[in-house]
Amino acid sequence: LRKLKGLSAHSMDTLTIAGRSERMTRIRSKNTKPELIVRSIVHSLGYRFRLHRRDLAGSPDLVFPSQKKAVFVHGCFWHAHAGCKVANRPKSRRAYWDQKFQRNKRRDIANEAALKDAGWKVETIWECETKSPDLVAKRVKKFLGLRPRKEAKHG
Ligand SMILES: [Zn+2]
Repeated sequence: LRKLKGLSAHSMDTLTIAGRSERMTRIRSKNTKPELIVRSIVHSLGYRFRLHRRDLAGSPDLVFPSQKKAVFVHGCFWHAHAGCKVANRPKSRRAYWDQKFQRNKRRDIANEAALKDAGWKVETIWECETKSPDLVAKRVKKFLGLRPRKEAKHG
């Protein structure tokens, strides 16, 4: 901690911001933990899907091309999940973060609208919801409807 000695309040704040950016980069990146949980649930239900199709708006996390359906798995913090405990907002620089969150929200909404315009159906699963796998399974089944074909395995 010695190197922190003598830092002004301003640079301390900068450090905090840097730490947070790191955290957000992790949350924004693909293959996050909530995403892996959803994938494993969907996989265990027997549905087949593609990942992160870049030709689709927002590059949805799970894509079901034959049904034209897409699932986003959103981190509660980064995507500013409304009324969510996991999405607690930074207490300093409110205006700065609010602007960032607003921009992310707008982007999410625009992506979903673009997909729907192109005839896709879209479902969003939130990070906090992945703590209840049964609930996620129920929602996935409802969203995808048709029961997946059972693949004949090993003869
Ligand atoms: Zn949430």
